[in-house]
Amino acid sequence: MLIIFDKDGTLVQNPAPGRPANTLTEQVLYPDVVERCAQLRAEGHTLAIATNQGGVAFGHFDHHAATLLVKTLADAIGADLYALCVTHPRGTVKRAKRDSRFRKPNPGMIQYLMDALGFPPDDTLYVGDMESDRQTAEAAGVRFAWAWEFFGRPAYSTEEQQRR
Ligand SMILES: [Mg+2]
Repeated sequence: MLIIFDKDGTLVQNPAPGRPANTLTEQVLYPDVVERCAQLRAEGHTLAIATNQGGVAFGHFDHHAATLLVKTLADAIGADLYALCVTHPRGTVKRAKRDSRFRKPNPGMIQYLMDALGFPPDDTLYVGDMESDRQTAEAAGVRFAWAWEFFGRPAYSTEEQQRR
């Protein structure tokens, strides 16, 4: 099976509610991630990451820095491939201020990863922490799991979810 993970709030802990990690120093994995991902790979699963990095569209960091964040995480979990989308419809950086077929909840990143890695939708799972992640999976026609269920963590409170 192809298991695609969201990054922030799923594999990586947000440094503050609703604020994703913007630097490598801030990018701290949940403690259960590395071991679980090693186990999944040992079971024969292929891992990938699909993440919106809209911070680029607001000038918080540049495209290169965003790629480095995601690549570092991919290395840490043994993911074969990753996709990131740096656009945001309300962004302030001219070329990134737009929607994209790759921007979640659009299915472009999931479709790209399935195509590139050779998996059909019925053999693909997307794991995320936000309603937009669930919508992305639905739009791509793949199964979805909430991060806390997949990893067996305590679920977010309603309050926490609203802050995200
Ligand atoms: Mg997330």
